[in-house]
Amino acid sequence: MTQPIVIAHRGASGYLPEHTLEAKALAYAMGADYLEQDCVLTRDDVPVVLHDVHIDTVTNVANVFADRARDDGRFYAIDFTVEELKSLRVTERIDHETGKPVFPGRFPAGKSRFEVPTLVEEIEMIQGLNRSTGKNIGIYPEIKAPAWHHEQGKDLSRILLNVLHENGYRTKDDACFVQCFDVEETRRLREDLDCQMQLVQLIGDKKWSRDDAGFDEDYISEEMSKIAEYADGIGPALPHVISGADASGKPMVTPLVAAAHKHGLVVHPYTLRADSMPEWANNFEALLRMCYEDANLDGLFTDFPDRAVQVRNQLMRGDG
Ligand code: CA
Repeated sequence: MTQPIVIAHRGASGYLPEHTLEAKALAYAMGADYLEQDCVLTRDDVPVVLHDVHIDTVTNVANVFADRARDDGRFYAIDFTVEELKSLRVTERIDHETGKPVFPGRFPAGKSRFEVPTLVEEIEMIQGLNRSTGKNIGIYPEIKAPAWHHEQGKDLSRILLNVLHENGYRTKDDACFVQCFDVEETRRLREDLDCQMQLVQLIGDKKWSRDDAGFDEDYISEEMSKIAEYADGIGPALPHVISGADASGKPMVTPLVAAAHKHGLVVHPYTLRADSMPEWANNFEALLRMCYEDANLDGLFTDFPDRAVQVRNQLMRGDG
């Protein structure tokens, strides 16, 4: 087996607030191969690393800028300058409906001091660590809500590509995957914006259910051939790759990975979480082994990169 990559999903987000530089440094130290950046734009067109276009579930914005919510009651990154965002404190993610932490066993909400990183700050930290350690750990930026950004009069993809180019990421040989859920925009990146880096088409978790035509092999193969016209890989939801376990506990592997590989696409599913596993799984290490050994994945997104690296390395050494 070729060595699957471990992608730190929002950093080592199982241990520190997502998308903080601290969470990225920890993931780096844990041996992740790639660190993920979800990117949105500020009012002054600076890409910042945040999972959502709104910022009220991971910052204290409602206290600091109480009168800056939109009519829907939400606070949006795009309504703030980078300087304003920098004045906020980042917290462990809070559920917008309940006001409670999304993952209650994780880092306590509202504690310590974290801030919103710009994409450049994060790249500089990763490249700095690459220099001081001699490694070549990669970045994995996602273009978030491109259609929404277009509606707001902003071209996130174009701005993000410029930042990547200016920081040395240009070709498929550079340690960078650019990812996006939006099919039209991902194709546009390749065909209109001349993105020559590795491109990953993310696939929403509602796209196929395990019972529908989505898992018909011919249909899946046709879908993969379309994606292979412009992308280098896919990022499906984990249930699209392993749909469950049979009575003996063996994983039910779907035809997706084989179809993607047939069309030359790598497969990096999301998201392996020790504290939020599929209902059919009860042991995180066993689940990781299924991903590597049974599903034949090329990599995976995880909130717990230390554990994914450990299982991967055991298997590669042959003592797993
Ligand atoms: Ca993401």
